[in-house]
Amino acid sequence: MIEFNHVKKKYPDGTEAIKDISFRVDKGEMVTLIGPSGCGKTTTMKMVNRLIEPTSGEIYINDQRINGFNIHELRWNIGYVLQEIALFPHMTIEENIAVVPEMKKWKQKDIQKRTSELLDMVGLEPSTFKKRMPRELSGGQQQRIGVIRALAADPDIILMDEPFSALDPISREQLQQDIQSLQKEIKKTILFVTHDIDEAMALGDRVCLMKGGEIVQFDKPQDLILQP
Ligand code: ADP
Ligand code: ADP
Repeated sequence: MIEFNHVKKKYPDGTEAIKDISFRVDKGEMVTLIGPSGCGKTTTMKMVNRLIEPTSGEIYINDQRINGFNIHELRWNIGYVLQEIALFPHMTIEENIAVVPEMKKWKQKDIQKRTSELLDMVGLEPSTFKKRMPRELSGGQQQRIGVIRALAADPDIILMDEPFSALDPISREQLQQDIQSLQKEIKKTILFVTHDIDEAMALGDRVCLMKGGEIVQFDKPQDLILQP
């Protein structure tokens, strides 16, 4: 689980990006974070893996304060899917997926097995795709690899920052469905940033609506009160 307790973030130039937020994402729950550009979504997400340090307040993962972890240990346990497709261009698909498992010193046999499992989960034939280079894949296929790479070493937490925003509408819809069926299987604790309200409602067990550095609603999709 992820918990924020009275977290604030003021940037050095004085911008109060996060005013005072407290929330909890339960174990196995997917929360979508939505709100207008500049409302603090990315700042919130990046505080979880300590790419950004809060000015005050506490952040917990599985009931432990994140400052207590060694930074590598923390980040190995948090899969991170970025907005821009960020595969290593000079590595094959299987090498891309193996990066974190190798850092964690998994056995080659286990990495191979895991890679095939993950490719199957998103409908990419392992024997065809393992040896390909990222440039030989479509945008949608590359972003699927981005998603499964984040899952490779079986992290407890997944952060996704507008992972579909660079995709065409059809790939986007397919990937949304992939994430939904993946989540049914893996039940990870996921924080998912989007600026698309339909996406937020479709994917989130709960939706966190932010505005001006504050949380204005945090509810199940069917309970949200949407203002025009
Ligand atoms: P969102 O992801 O919702 O678009 P951000 O978290 O990126 O919002 O930004 C929240 C606010 O903090 C915005 O006003 C943004 O301009 C500001 N901000 C983000 N990063 C920095 C930074 N490094 N220095 C100063 N202000 C920043
Ligand atoms: P996103 O669209 O994902 O919210 P942004 O365009 O807001 O991303 O920010 C991209 C990067 O620029 C981030 O690393 C953020 O911290 C930084 N940034 C955003 N706003 C500012 C700002 N006002 N001053 C300095 N850095 C900023």
